[in-house]
Amino acid sequence: MKLSAPRGTKDILPQEARVYQELEKTSRQIFDAFNYHELRTPIFEDVKLFQRTLGQTTDIVQKQLLSLKSDGEDEFALRPEATASIVRAYIEHGLHLKDGFSKYYYIGPMFRGERPQKGRLRQFHHIGAEAIGSLNPYLDAELIFLSVRLIEAFGIEGYTLNINNLGCAKDKENWSKLLRSTLKNRIKNFCNLCQERFDRNVFRILDCKNEACKEELKKISLKENHICSDCQEHFAVVQEALKNLKINFKISSFLVRGLDYYTRTVFEITHASLGSQDALGAGGRYDNLISQLGGPDLSAVGFALGVERMLLANKKINETQDSIIAYFITLDKEATKKGFLLLNSLRNENISCDMNYEGASLKSQMRSANKSGAKFVIIIGEDEIKTDSVTLKDMSSGNQEKIKSNQLISELKNKI
Ligand SMILES: [Zn+2]
Ligand SMILES: [Zn+2]
Repeated sequence: MKLSAPRGTKDILPQEARVYQELEKTSRQIFDAFNYHELRTPIFEDVKLFQRTLGQTTDIVQKQLLSLKSDGEDEFALRPEATASIVRAYIEHGLHLKDGFSKYYYIGPMFRGERPQKGRLRQFHHIGAEAIGSLNPYLDAELIFLSVRLIEAFGIEGYTLNINNLGCAKDKENWSKLLRSTLKNRIKNFCNLCQERFDRNVFRILDCKNEACKEELKKISLKENHICSDCQEHFAVVQEALKNLKINFKISSFLVRGLDYYTRTVFEITHASLGSQDALGAGGRYDNLISQLGGPDLSAVGFALGVERMLLANKKINETQDSIIAYFITLDKEATKKGFLLLNSLRNENISCDMNYEGASLKSQMRSANKSGAKFVIIIGEDEIKTDSVTLKDMSSGNQEKIKSNQLISELKNKI
């Protein structure tokens, strides 16, 4: 039987894994600059956590949770996103008492049990952040700026930032009433999914991808008179802050996001090259989630960026070339014995290097050296053994010189 990776998952082979490492490294530097701290949570949680946070009626909970069952135990689910887990950990460890206002980030795999398609895997990766404990509108602007900083640091151009104001819980309730009465007589013209959404989650109709639904939505007007003055003022400050930071954005009154817990500011960053699943990342404010989960009454803002989508949006990120500093070529048994010792003395100094383990000829050792991208080749033959030396060849200039074995480390350190 030939086994393969489960559908919708992928093996990240070494060359691509380097790309992931680069993205992670850059992200950590940027998170440090913004004073966010890493919080690592398990990749699975009690299924109830997701049911309670994401909303029973959202697509994720209804169809997309990958659940894990084991006899006699609670039902678990692999995390579809990390916000719920971060908030759970925040409450569980009483971090509001210890840390007060806190800023966290996470990097890791997320899971959804949906049908795989372009830009939609069952296991994918998120880079995200959550700032918990403040209703300050500058915090919304900070999180938006942070996500834009990350995307630009990954060399992605031509993205679009859409923002919207959902209002507080009361405004959302008014809005859903308003939407239902506006759509009531037209709902028969919408797709089947939207007809279901009308009762269980009317906001989702606004971001339906179906062309007929999009056309139908153009006919209705969405006045923002359901938003209270506090929430309007909050959103005005966010917009002003973004303008001052020279961040281009569009206000999209159809942007609602798929999750129940969002309030006030929501945002989404899209890229045209991605097709129908065009979001690079998204986020927003959630002012009621922490208390809903039994925590204190605190406001928060967060976002997540999809790593695989970012790789699709900037194919150039994939072109990183792995290379090492030195490659050892040994011409006989005695040379191999000495080479192996020198090789590992270099590694003790964190100088990346390698040698051939296949007992290959000089020619194929040379080929391996080229493939490794080594900047220097260190050749040891009969003559070098006799004089306790090595031949050091600079691969870019082609120059080579014989040096004493005990000078190798200092010589290499001078050159790199
Ligand atoms: Zn409001
Ligand atoms: Zn629809």
